[in-house]
Amino acid sequence: MSLMRLAYASEATFEAKPVEKGVEPHVARILMTSRKNNARDQLVGGLYYGNDRFFQYLEGDEDAVRRTFDRILKDERHKNVVTLIEEPLTSRTFSNWSMKYVPLSRDVRNFLDEEGLESFEPSSFTSDQCEKMIELIRNSSQDQNLVNRDDNKSVGDAPQVLSSGMKMGLIVAGLVLVGALVIGGTML
Ligand code: FAD
Repeated sequence: MSLMRLAYASEATFEAKPVEKGVEPHVARILMTSRKNNARDQLVGGLYYGNDRFFQYLEGDEDAVRRTFDRILKDERHKNVVTLIEEPLTSRTFSNWSMKYVPLSRDVRNFLDEEGLESFEPSSFTSDQCEKMIELIRNSSQDQNLVNRDDNKSVGDAPQVLSSGMKMGLIVAGLVLVGALVIGGTML
């Protein structure tokens, strides 16, 4: 079995919707399918999405990588696919991720700053910049679930455990209980 690795850049064709659980909904669907298929085909790698651009890295059995890439090329959710790396690989370099997802993270922003890049335009990455992106994906500690931490979220954005209606109900129930205790105490 011969191994290979492949990286490409492309442009999303969909209009980005508000992020849900840390992921844009179109990207979430792509990730779900990718994780199912890539786990079956023993492919590993990562997907980066930002600025309406994709950067994806895949490694695994050559036939599986090529079959997957053929499907990806036909996908209408992106366009202008530019192959950045396509070469044999001696051994796997990722652990057990079927498709790691890296949202717009501080690490990537730092990388862009260090490289003097104003925006995320992976189709013009040099080979050195591609390797740095792959390293970022490899070292990213993002959750494998679709729930990725959003760096921009403030404490105020934390999910509400109780709705305001439930809170009001609990306050009223508390007042009724206190009233009953007071009345009960006066009757003793
Ligand atoms: P299907 O069962 O045919 O489809 C799975 C789900 O995806 C369905 O819910 C279907 O509605 C939806 N879907 C499929 N194609 C489209 C479409 N064109 N528009 C809208 N919804 C669609 N696939 C992988 O297997 N591995 C990858 O690593 C991978 N990476 C991707 C990266 C990018 C940037 C994009 C755009 C797509 C990627 N895909 C990947 C998806 C790939 O293009 C195919 O859609 C997928 O492989 C089809 O697999 P399937 O036949 O098992 O899925």
